[in-house]
Amino acid sequence: MQDVETLIVGGGVTGLAVAALLGKSADVLLLEREAELGGYCRTVRREGFTWDYSGHFFHFRHRRLEEWLRARMPGEEVRTVTRRSFIHFADRWVDFPFQKNIHQLPQQDFIECLHDLYFAQQAGEGETPRHFEEMLFARYGRAMAEKFLIPYNEKLYATPLSRLDVHAMGRFFPHVSLEDVVRNMRTPDNASYNATFTYPRSGASAYVQALASEVRPEAVRLGEAVTRLDVEARIAETEQGRYRYRRLVSSMPFPHLLRLCGRGDEAAPLSWNQVLVFNLGFDSKGPRDVHWVYYPQRELPFYRVGFYDNIFDADRMSLYVELGFDREARPDPEVHLPRVLDGLRQVGLVREHRLVAWHSVLMNPAYVHINAASTALHERSSAELEALGVFSLGRYGRWTYCSIEDNLLEAEAWVRSHGGARAGPSGFHPESGKTG
Ligand SMILES: Cc1cc2nc3c(=O)[nH]c(=O)nc-3n(C[C@H](O)[C@H](O)[C@H](O)COP(=O)(O)OP(=O)(O)OC[C@H]3O[C@@H](n4cnc5c(N)ncnc54)[C@H](O)[C@@H]3O)c2cc1C
Repeated sequence: MQDVETLIVGGGVTGLAVAALLGKSADVLLLEREAELGGYCRTVRREGFTWDYSGHFFHFRHRRLEEWLRARMPGEEVRTVTRRSFIHFADRWVDFPFQKNIHQLPQQDFIECLHDLYFAQQAGEGETPRHFEEMLFARYGRAMAEKFLIPYNEKLYATPLSRLDVHAMGRFFPHVSLEDVVRNMRTPDNASYNATFTYPRSGASAYVQALASEVRPEAVRLGEAVTRLDVEARIAETEQGRYRYRRLVSSMPFPHLLRLCGRGDEAAPLSWNQVLVFNLGFDSKGPRDVHWVYYPQRELPFYRVGFYDNIFDADRMSLYVELGFDREARPDPEVHLPRVLDGLRQVGLVREHRLVAWHSVLMNPAYVHINAASTALHERSSAELEALGVFSLGRYGRWTYCSIEDNLLEAEAWVRSHGGARAGPSGFHPESGKTG
């Protein structure tokens, strides 16, 4: 049995950020199930293509975070890119966000959307919407809801939107007023949370390496999964050993944590989707000046396609293609690849192109379904676990919708309030020198 003050489960950005900010002199051990660090921010390379587990673009609202990371990425080229994203609708690409750019739709669709939006917003929300779908109808009217907002989000979440809370997407849903829509017709302003993004030439893993550079290599064990937790005795078990901890920081999915603690039954109200991601490399260039496109069409298998090759102006089309599935599905990539390629031909992205290399990954969970039951369960169970020294952090530990930057901020806040006197510089401040 090994004793450790802070045991961290998971070496994605959350677990690594906690370890990095606790500092190299802290008594920390990080266990990661996979053979590699990074979690969903891992990068794969094939035939000269660089791909992430899915397009992972970085939207930093806090410059200090980015500066801290960049100071630890010597020699890495990082591009800051102004986002060009669209919705494929009828015969055209409409600027994102859809709700602000209905004037770009074919005339009949535009009239229907504007008409329904006007009367929906005139009527006000009336009774408070009970769920996400009701909110879409109440705020945006039937036409916008049915033409884009519902089909797109149903493909993504792989569930009826009546199962999601009104605020299921938090700040990631771009809300607009009628006034915004009308103003945008003459003075386009499509800024949203991800109006610009940064991306390193060697992929998202460059940021992971920056975090890892602040963690002692001996404090990390790869290929070691936690298989059981005795939260009363504060002991974690793996195939390789047993660890007695003072507190445990878990970034594994919350239902998984509950199961390992022997409380799996509590997870029953939680649901989520899975995203099957195809990374596809072709022999020649595709469309330029676009970073990703949303596809609401139910007959197409994918809901979003992104273009890695337009970040560093590469001369071969390099795509990530995302497909949403419910949590029970067991999608076979070999079966879905031909459907994806057919769909890409249908929408005109693949023409004479030859597929040179591909890779797929199933993200499970990918988007959690946030509703009153999931929020109440998480609040109750995580408070009970915290009283036993178990802290569930990260996108899936918190069971939320968030970005990598949010994960870093959350890790920083945790270290500030729990790091103790022995913690390191405990903050993403560019001026905080590199620890030993
Ligand atoms: C399709 C998709 C696209 C996204 N795109 C973006 C984007 O463009 N920009 C952005 O900012 N964010 C994006 N995100 C969100 C981003 O991926 C997450 O916020 C972030 O990667 C979460 O990091 P984490 O460390 O909390 O979790 P994870 O990355 O899931 O890390 C958890 C780690 O725990 C390990 N683990 C699990 N169980 C065990 C166990 N029993 N024992 C040991 N280890 C275990 C896992 O192997 C994993 O490495 C996207 C998410 C999805 C699903």
